[in-house]
Amino acid sequence: MELRLSANLTTVNSHINSYDYSIVHEDNMQLSWLEIPVVHQNLIRTHVDTHPATEVCGLIGGLWQPYPRLARAFQVVPIANIDPHPAVRYTMDPQAQIEAILAFDQRGWDVVGIYHSHPHGTPIPSATDLAEANYPDAVYVIGVPHGALRAWRIIRGAAHPAELHVVG
Ligand SMILES: [Zn+2]
Repeated sequence: MELRLSANLTTVNSHINSYDYSIVHEDNMQLSWLEIPVVHQNLIRTHVDTHPATEVCGLIGGLWQPYPRLARAFQVVPIANIDPHPAVRYTMDPQAQIEAILAFDQRGWDVVGIYHSHPHGTPIPSATDLAEANYPDAVYVIGVPHGALRAWRIIRGAAHPAELHVVG
């Protein structure tokens, strides 16, 4: 099992590292919408609100609809932030990250969103967020404890506003 997981982790990492940015078409840069059930949005808010001093993070699994750029979120998975400087950065626990991705994959879902918090800032991608974003198709949700949740796409180091549609 460990061997299988590490083999899959290598596969996922090589997929991320080899992402072909040429397939990010102009259409994909138009406003993206992430439709998220209120229970899942509340899970993100609670995770953010209960950690006022450190960044929290997690993955959002769901399905993309081809047009318009709409994703439906079906599951939110909090992931431990193992960064040595969690007040200002986040690094997802790689084992928990791969397990979440594999669980999504088993349901036929994609990572449609990635969330994290800015406990001491604004819900706007930081220079680090822009530099390290590896999923140009995903919606990046950034929360501030007891404050706003904002959504973005990050493509080639540039942030594009996206929208959260909260549904019952
Ligand atoms: Zn950030």
